[in-house]
Amino acid sequence: MKIEYEDSFVKIASLLGGEDYVKVARALLNNENATDEEIASATGLKINSVRKALYDLFGRSLITGIRVRDLKRGWFVYRWKAQRDQVDGFIETQKKKALERLKQRLSYENEHQFYSCDTPTCKKLTFEEAMEAFFKCPTCGKNLNLIDNSEFKNALEWKIGQMQEEALAK
Ligand SMILES: [Zn+2]
Repeated sequence: MKIEYEDSFVKIASLLGGEDYVKVARALLNNENATDEEIASATGLKINSVRKALYDLFGRSLITGIRVRDLKRGWFVYRWKAQRDQVDGFIETQKKKALERLKQRLSYENEHQFYSCDTPTCKKLTFEEAMEAFFKCPTCGKNLNLIDNSEFKNALEWKIGQMQEEALAK
């Protein structure tokens, strides 16, 4: 089932950390400049889970934190705020990284041949590894055969093309 979120900020939070992050993200949108403790009490999450989500989102520049003195207690607290204008940039960066990974995988597939014994639980081997094992599977001892990876490469090429088109359409 595909879950739709009301806001791209909440959606990103869900992709990064699941339900806890969604709760924290919604609390941040409902209460701008909330503290850790306010978010914890609004969400019912433990303060440590709230902080884990906040520090992660902060590390990705998706929220900002301002250090202010708590007037009642005298110590410093952070007030957190969603950076919704950073969400699009974050998504773009993630897409670029994903595209880069696919391209690297494709060139890896192009540069390497793989060998398999056809036992699903055994590992695929590179040509070099297969040669070292004298073309016998080191796990089960069966003969290793060259895998035809052209279908996988076609699928990679198709996906890369699709992502590049999508990037250009913007
Ligand atoms: Zn095997």
